[in-house]
Amino acid sequence: MRVVTFDLDGEPSVGLLQGEEVLDFSRAFLTFLAAEGMDPSPALLSIEELIDDGLLVPEVFQDVLGFLEDHDLLDAMLVEEAELLMPFLPNRIIALGRNYAAHAAETGHAPPNEPVFFMKATSSVIGPGEPVLIPKDAGRVDHEVELAVVIGKGGKRIPRHQAMEHVAGYTILNDVTARDMQTRDMAASHPWFLSKSFDTFGPLGPCLTLPDEIPDPHTLELRLTVNGEVRQESNTRNLIFKIPELIASLSRYITLEPGDLISTGTPEGISPLQPGDVMEAYVEGIGTLRNPVEEEK
Ligand code: MG
Repeated sequence: MRVVTFDLDGEPSVGLLQGEEVLDFSRAFLTFLAAEGMDPSPALLSIEELIDDGLLVPEVFQDVLGFLEDHDLLDAMLVEEAELLMPFLPNRIIALGRNYAAHAAETGHAPPNEPVFFMKATSSVIGPGEPVLIPKDAGRVDHEVELAVVIGKGGKRIPRHQAMEHVAGYTILNDVTARDMQTRDMAASHPWFLSKSFDTFGPLGPCLTLPDEIPDPHTLELRLTVNGEVRQESNTRNLIFKIPELIASLSRYITLEPGDLISTGTPEGISPLQPGDVMEAYVEGIGTLRNPVEEEK
Protein backbone atom coordinates (compact mmCIF):
# COMPACT_ATOMS: atom_id res chain seq x y z
CA MET A 1 0.00 0.00 0.00
CA ARG A 2 1.18 3.50 -0.87
CA VAL A 3 -0.60 6.18 1.12
CA VAL A 4 -0.66 9.84 0.09
CA THR A 5 -2.14 13.15 1.11
CA PHE A 6 -3.76 14.96 -1.79
CA ASP A 7 -5.63 18.19 -2.43
CA LEU A 8 -9.39 17.57 -2.45
CA ASP A 9 -11.08 20.85 -3.36
CA GLY A 10 -8.59 22.84 -1.30
CA GLU A 11 -8.53 20.46 1.69
CA PRO A 12 -5.86 17.85 2.44
CA SER A 13 -7.31 14.35 2.22
CA VAL A 14 -5.84 10.84 2.62
CA GLY A 15 -5.48 8.85 -0.59
CA LEU A 16 -4.29 5.44 -1.67
CA LEU A 17 -2.20 5.12 -4.83
CA GLN A 18 -3.75 2.69 -7.31
CA GLY A 19 -1.16 2.56 -10.09
CA GLU A 20 -1.04 6.14 -11.33
CA GLU A 21 -4.40 7.03 -9.84
CA VAL A 22 -5.41 8.17 -6.37
CA LEU A 23 -8.29 6.62 -4.47
CA ASP A 24 -10.06 8.96 -2.03
CA PHE A 25 -9.40 6.91 1.09
CA SER A 26 -10.88 9.46 3.51
CA ARG A 27 -14.27 9.21 1.77
CA ALA A 28 -13.96 5.45 1.33
CA PHE A 29 -13.15 4.97 5.02
CA LEU A 30 -16.13 7.04 6.18
CA THR A 31 -18.42 5.07 3.83
CA PHE A 32 -16.95 1.81 5.15
CA LEU A 33 -17.37 2.82 8.82
CA ALA A 34 -20.97 3.95 8.27
CA ALA A 35 -21.83 0.68 6.48
CA GLU A 36 -20.29 -1.32 9.35
CA GLY A 37 -22.40 0.64 11.83
CA MET A 38 -19.33 2.32 13.34
CA ASP A 39 -19.07 5.95 14.28
CA PRO A 40 -17.34 7.71 11.38
CA SER A 41 -14.87 9.94 13.18
CA PRO A 42 -13.77 12.87 11.03
CA ALA A 43 -10.55 12.96 13.09
CA LEU A 44 -9.26 9.94 11.14
CA LEU A 45 -8.87 11.87 7.94
CA SER A 46 -5.17 12.59 8.13
CA ILE A 47 -2.13 10.33 8.04
CA GLU A 48 -1.05 11.83 11.39
CA GLU A 49 -4.31 10.65 12.98
CA LEU A 50 -4.13 7.22 11.36
CA ILE A 51 -0.61 6.80 12.78
CA ASP A 52 -1.65 8.02 16.26
CA ASP A 53 -4.59 5.57 16.31
CA GLY A 54 -2.49 2.63 15.09
CA LEU A 55 -4.59 2.43 11.88
CA LEU A 56 -1.84 3.04 9.34
CA VAL A 57 -1.47 -0.68 8.68
CA PRO A 58 -2.04 -2.65 5.46
CA GLU A 59 -4.93 -4.66 6.98
CA VAL A 60 -7.08 -1.53 7.46
CA PHE A 61 -6.58 -0.48 3.84
CA GLN A 62 -7.21 -4.05 2.63
CA ASP A 63 -10.51 -4.20 4.56
CA VAL A 64 -11.68 -0.92 3.06
CA LEU A 65 -10.58 -1.94 -0.46
CA GLY A 66 -12.40 -5.28 -0.05
CA PHE A 67 -15.55 -3.44 1.02
CA LEU A 68 -15.32 -1.11 -2.00
CA GLU A 69 -14.90 -4.07 -4.35
CA ASP A 70 -17.84 -5.95 -2.82
CA HIS A 71 -20.08 -2.91 -3.29
CA ASP A 72 -18.73 -1.97 -6.70
CA LEU A 73 -17.54 1.39 -5.37
CA LEU A 74 -13.84 1.28 -6.36
CA ASP A 75 -14.15 3.35 -9.54
CA ALA A 76 -16.39 5.91 -7.85
CA MET A 77 -13.67 6.64 -5.29
CA LEU A 78 -10.92 7.40 -7.83
CA VAL A 79 -9.86 11.02 -8.17
CA GLU A 80 -8.69 12.43 -11.49
CA GLU A 81 -5.38 14.31 -11.63
CA ALA A 82 -4.99 14.56 -7.86
CA GLU A 83 -2.30 16.98 -6.67
CA LEU A 84 -0.11 15.32 -4.03
CA LEU A 85 0.74 17.27 -0.87
CA MET A 86 3.22 16.75 1.99
CA PRO A 87 2.18 13.24 3.11
CA PHE A 88 2.34 14.07 6.81
CA LEU A 89 4.11 16.37 9.24
CA PRO A 90 6.58 14.24 11.22
CA ASN A 91 6.45 14.40 15.01
CA ARG A 92 10.26 14.80 14.97
CA ILE A 93 12.92 14.36 12.31
CA ILE A 94 15.92 12.43 13.61
CA ALA A 95 18.53 12.20 10.88
CA LEU A 96 21.82 10.37 10.40
CA GLY A 97 25.20 11.79 9.50
CA ARG A 98 27.72 9.68 7.55
CA ASN A 99 25.72 6.47 7.34
CA TYR A 100 27.17 5.46 3.94
CA ALA A 101 30.95 4.89 3.90
CA ALA A 102 31.44 6.46 0.44
CA HIS A 103 29.62 9.62 1.57
CA ALA A 104 31.71 9.83 4.76
CA ALA A 105 34.81 9.55 2.56
CA GLU A 106 33.71 12.33 0.17
CA THR A 107 33.34 14.70 3.13
CA GLY A 108 36.80 13.70 4.43
CA HIS A 109 35.66 11.48 7.31
CA ALA A 110 36.18 7.88 8.31
CA PRO A 111 33.03 5.77 8.72
CA PRO A 112 31.73 6.28 12.29
CA ASN A 113 31.85 3.54 14.93
CA GLU A 114 28.37 4.38 16.18
CA PRO A 115 25.38 6.16 14.62
CA VAL A 116 25.70 9.96 14.32
CA PHE A 117 22.25 11.40 15.10
CA PHE A 118 21.11 14.99 14.67
CA MET A 119 17.76 16.74 14.53
CA LYS A 120 16.27 18.66 11.64
CA ALA A 121 13.41 21.09 12.25
CA THR A 122 9.99 19.77 11.13
CA SER A 123 9.23 23.35 10.02
CA SER A 124 11.58 22.71 7.05
CA VAL A 125 9.23 20.11 5.56
CA ILE A 126 7.58 20.72 2.18
CA GLY A 127 5.67 18.41 -0.16
CA PRO A 128 6.13 17.11 -3.71
CA GLY A 129 6.46 19.87 -6.29
CA GLU A 130 7.03 22.66 -3.78
CA PRO A 131 10.13 24.80 -4.35
CA VAL A 132 13.25 24.67 -2.18
CA LEU A 133 14.09 28.33 -1.53
CA ILE A 134 17.77 29.27 -1.26
CA PRO A 135 18.58 32.57 0.51
CA LYS A 136 21.02 34.82 -1.39
CA ASP A 137 23.64 34.65 1.37
CA ALA A 138 23.41 30.87 1.96
CA GLY A 139 26.60 29.84 0.15
CA ARG A 140 26.73 26.26 -1.09
CA VAL A 141 23.48 24.29 -0.66
CA ASP A 142 23.37 20.52 -1.44
CA HIS A 143 20.73 17.85 -2.09
CA GLU A 144 20.74 14.61 -0.04
CA VAL A 145 18.41 11.76 -1.05
CA GLU A 146 17.53 9.51 1.91
CA LEU A 147 15.30 6.59 2.82
CA ALA A 148 13.22 7.77 5.79
CA VAL A 149 11.51 5.44 8.27
CA VAL A 150 8.16 6.37 9.84
CA ILE A 151 7.67 5.13 13.40
CA GLY A 152 4.17 3.72 13.98
CA LYS A 153 4.47 2.33 17.49
CA GLY A 154 6.53 4.19 20.07
CA GLY A 155 8.67 2.70 22.77
CA LYS A 156 11.82 2.86 24.87
CA ARG A 157 14.71 0.41 24.96
CA ILE A 158 13.37 -1.41 21.90
CA PRO A 159 15.48 -4.52 21.30
CA ARG A 160 16.96 -4.89 17.84
CA HIS A 161 14.99 -8.05 17.05
CA GLN A 162 11.67 -6.26 17.74
CA ALA A 163 12.57 -2.95 16.09
CA MET A 164 10.83 -3.55 12.75
CA GLU A 165 7.49 -4.02 14.56
CA HIS A 166 7.68 -0.29 15.35
CA VAL A 167 7.92 0.76 11.68
CA ALA A 168 4.70 2.02 10.04
CA GLY A 169 6.25 2.69 6.64
CA TYR A 170 8.83 4.39 4.49
CA THR A 171 9.15 7.62 2.57
CA ILE A 172 11.82 9.83 0.96
CA LEU A 173 13.45 12.81 2.64
CA ASN A 174 15.66 15.12 0.60
CA ASP A 175 17.83 16.41 3.45
CA VAL A 176 18.78 19.70 1.80
CA THR A 177 21.81 21.15 3.56
CA ALA A 178 23.50 24.57 3.69
CA ARG A 179 26.94 22.98 3.21
CA ASP A 180 29.16 26.03 3.74
CA MET A 181 27.39 26.84 6.99
CA GLN A 182 27.60 23.18 8.11
CA THR A 183 31.34 23.06 7.32
CA ARG A 184 31.94 26.26 9.33
CA ASP A 185 29.87 24.91 12.23
CA MET A 186 31.73 21.58 12.23
CA ALA A 187 35.11 23.36 12.23
CA ALA A 188 33.95 25.33 15.29
CA SER A 189 32.54 22.18 16.98
CA HIS A 190 29.02 23.64 16.75
CA PRO A 191 25.90 21.56 16.08
CA TRP A 192 24.46 21.06 12.56
CA PHE A 193 20.91 22.07 13.40
CA LEU A 194 20.69 25.39 11.56
CA SER A 195 22.31 24.33 8.27
CA LYS A 196 19.83 21.43 8.03
CA SER A 197 16.71 23.32 9.07
CA PHE A 198 16.21 26.32 6.75
CA ASP A 199 12.59 26.81 5.69
CA THR A 200 11.81 24.50 2.70
CA PHE A 201 15.00 22.38 3.22
CA GLY A 202 12.97 19.21 3.95
CA PRO A 203 11.17 17.93 0.82
CA LEU A 204 9.19 14.82 1.90
CA GLY A 205 7.13 12.27 -0.04
CA PRO A 206 5.68 11.58 -2.51
CA CYS A 207 3.94 8.82 -0.54
CA LEU A 208 4.31 6.65 2.50
CA THR A 209 4.83 3.01 1.50
CA LEU A 210 3.68 0.46 4.06
CA PRO A 211 5.86 -2.59 4.84
CA ASP A 212 3.60 -4.91 2.77
CA GLU A 213 5.28 -3.44 -0.33
CA ILE A 214 8.76 -3.15 1.18
CA PRO A 215 9.44 -6.44 2.96
CA ASP A 216 13.18 -5.68 3.11
CA PRO A 217 14.16 -1.98 3.31
CA HIS A 218 17.85 -2.84 3.00
CA THR A 219 17.81 -3.72 -0.72
CA LEU A 220 16.40 -0.51 -2.24
CA GLU A 221 17.97 1.41 -5.10
CA LEU A 222 18.10 5.14 -4.47
CA ARG A 223 19.09 7.95 -6.76
CA LEU A 224 18.98 11.71 -7.11
CA THR A 225 19.03 13.57 -10.39
CA VAL A 226 19.43 17.29 -11.01
CA ASN A 227 17.91 18.45 -14.31
CA GLY A 228 17.82 14.78 -15.37
CA GLU A 229 21.54 14.17 -14.65
CA VAL A 230 22.35 11.48 -12.07
CA ARG A 231 24.26 12.88 -9.08
CA GLN A 232 23.64 10.29 -6.34
CA GLU A 233 23.11 6.57 -6.93
CA SER A 234 23.39 3.78 -4.40
CA ASN A 235 21.47 1.05 -2.61
CA THR A 236 20.26 0.90 1.00
CA ARG A 237 22.28 -2.30 1.43
CA ASN A 238 25.22 0.11 1.79
CA LEU A 239 23.82 1.66 4.97
CA ILE A 240 26.46 1.31 7.70
CA PHE A 241 23.89 1.20 10.53
CA LYS A 242 20.73 -0.61 9.49
CA ILE A 243 17.22 0.29 10.64
CA PRO A 244 16.93 -2.15 13.60
CA GLU A 245 20.21 -0.87 14.99
CA LEU A 246 19.13 2.78 14.56
CA ILE A 247 15.84 2.15 16.40
CA ALA A 248 17.58 0.22 19.19
CA SER A 249 20.32 2.87 19.60
CA LEU A 250 17.94 5.83 19.64
CA SER A 251 15.37 4.28 21.94
CA ARG A 252 18.02 3.44 24.50
CA TYR A 253 17.83 7.11 25.56
CA ILE A 254 14.84 8.64 23.77
CA THR A 255 11.26 7.36 23.92
CA LEU A 256 10.28 6.98 20.28
CA GLU A 257 6.80 8.29 19.49
CA PRO A 258 4.32 7.54 16.69
CA GLY A 259 5.00 9.86 13.76
CA ASP A 260 8.73 10.19 14.41
CA LEU A 261 10.79 10.10 11.23
CA ILE A 262 14.24 8.53 11.18
CA SER A 263 16.11 9.60 8.05
CA THR A 264 18.79 7.02 7.40
CA GLY A 265 21.47 9.21 5.80
CA THR A 266 22.61 10.00 2.28
CA PRO A 267 24.96 8.16 -0.10
CA GLU A 268 27.84 9.73 -2.02
CA GLY A 269 27.36 12.24 -4.82
CA ILE A 270 26.20 15.33 -2.94
CA SER A 271 26.49 18.42 -5.13
CA PRO A 272 25.58 22.11 -5.07
CA LEU A 273 22.21 23.39 -6.24
CA GLN A 274 21.39 26.52 -8.25
CA PRO A 275 18.11 28.39 -8.64
CA GLY A 276 16.37 26.96 -11.70
CA ASP A 277 17.46 23.37 -10.96
CA VAL A 278 14.91 20.57 -10.65
CA MET A 279 15.72 17.71 -8.26
CA GLU A 280 14.22 14.23 -8.54
CA ALA A 281 14.84 12.02 -5.50
CA TYR A 282 13.98 8.36 -6.14
CA VAL A 283 13.82 5.39 -3.79
CA GLU A 284 12.72 1.99 -5.10
CA GLY A 285 9.28 1.00 -3.80
CA ILE A 286 8.40 4.58 -2.89
CA GLY A 287 8.66 6.63 -6.07
CA THR A 288 10.04 9.97 -7.20
CA LEU A 289 9.99 13.17 -5.17
CA ARG A 290 10.38 16.14 -7.51
CA ASN A 291 11.17 19.65 -6.27
CA PRO A 292 12.35 22.76 -8.12
CA VAL A 293 14.97 25.10 -6.64
CA GLU A 294 14.38 28.84 -6.47
CA GLU A 295 16.10 31.85 -4.97
CA GLU A 296 14.36 33.08 -1.83
CA LYS A 297 12.75 36.46 -2.44
MG1 MG B 1 21.47 13.82 5.40
